[in-house]
Amino acid sequence: MKKVCNFCGRSEREVRLLITGINGYICEDCSRQAYQIVKESGLLDGGNQEERGDSDGKKAAKEKKVPKPREIKEYLDQYVIGQDDAKRFLSVAVYNHYKRLQQKKDDKDGVEIEKSNIIMVGSTGTGKTLLARTIAKLLDVPFTIVDATVFTEAGYVGEDVESILSRLLQVADYKVDAAERGIVFIDEIDKIARKADNPSITRDVSGEGVQQGLLKLLEGTMVNVPPQGGRKHPDQEYIHVDTRNILFICGGAFDGIERKIAQRLNTHTVGYNSVQNVRKIDKDDLMKYVQPQDLKSFGLIPEIIGRLPVLTYLNPLDRAALERILTEPKNSIVKQYVKLFKMDGVDLVFTPEALRFIVDKAVEYKLGARGLRSIVESVMMDAMFEVPSKKVKKFEVTEDYAREQLDKSASLAVMN
Ligand code: ADP
Repeated sequence: MKKVCNFCGRSEREVRLLITGINGYICEDCSRQAYQIVKESGLLDGGNQEERGDSDGKKAAKEKKVPKPREIKEYLDQYVIGQDDAKRFLSVAVYNHYKRLQQKKDDKDGVEIEKSNIIMVGSTGTGKTLLARTIAKLLDVPFTIVDATVFTEAGYVGEDVESILSRLLQVADYKVDAAERGIVFIDEIDKIARKADNPSITRDVSGEGVQQGLLKLLEGTMVNVPPQGGRKHPDQEYIHVDTRNILFICGGAFDGIERKIAQRLNTHTVGYNSVQNVRKIDKDDLMKYVQPQDLKSFGLIPEIIGRLPVLTYLNPLDRAALERILTEPKNSIVKQYVKLFKMDGVDLVFTPEALRFIVDKAVEYKLGARGLRSIVESVMMDAMFEVPSKKVKKFEVTEDYAREQLDKSASLAVMN
């Protein structure tokens, strides 16, 4: 029997697609029309999003099982060393975020779970971005990292805060629905703090104005995003993105915030607290006492702080942590090099002394975890060049070898 679309009568050859039903067929044009009719009837929930053809993404996200906080933390443990408090906060916040997305619009109990955007405070290179990135990988949602320092108030040279959303759209392949449930990591949020010595008469281009712009996004708003990113152009068609369900994770080093924390703790202790309480404070690790009011003293406006209800901190990485970072994470630097060499049939081994030496250098150069890779890269450069052409089965990196290579390396000599 000849296959024809039972709606328009066109044959299989005249159409691009024929969908088979029990007793007949429908072509792509007719099914599109049918869809329009259903949509106009108001039977589709949240018409706008469906219009963009993204309902599949939404369904998939809904049906996908969201891991429990404990599972999220266990996953993070495989990639990020230490930072237990931050991991727990993040796991719970992300879990709640997804529960919130699953709450039914027509819940009659009047309880609406609010969004829990996150702010992480901790020196650079302690794993803030890594945590956010790892979570996004686990959840398989669009994820983008933006640097708060590039933003300036609308109308000034620099990017508008809305450009955050163009990037998110890009990574979501312009699936608006997916982007609207994505995660945005805003790095260096501390850099848009209001400068205390900035007189309010002059415009604080990169400070409070940007915070105000950001506030709208964090709160949840409909943003008109120019598809190509960058600055708005009158002729460009905008894509409407609702930020209500986007999870924002902010990170910042907040250099010097310890002083503010200490000040606050001190004033408290002088006033009411007993001597016992004073003793309990761990002076070497003040970051863990960080409170929203410290962010305010630092120059974030209270409205922004209010929109970042989950506040957590990251510890500075000590020697032991750095050593673990080299070897333990699932894709640790050492594991990556071992794999590279394995591909050439060579067993690569680092002696414990060599690893300790690398850590020492990272500490010495004050590069933290970020420096580990560049140091290992310099140490391994010659070996990576020579070993593939040699008939060796094993290559051992000893402390002496590492030192010798590093001394030779020009790139690090510059840093020295
Ligand atoms: P931050 O965002 O805090 O400035 P990153 O997350 O970008 O720092 O860290 C830089 C790099 O250092 C990461 O890509 C990772 O390789 C390494 N690193 C930092 N902290 C950790 C950690 N806690 N566990 C494992 N690796 C880490």
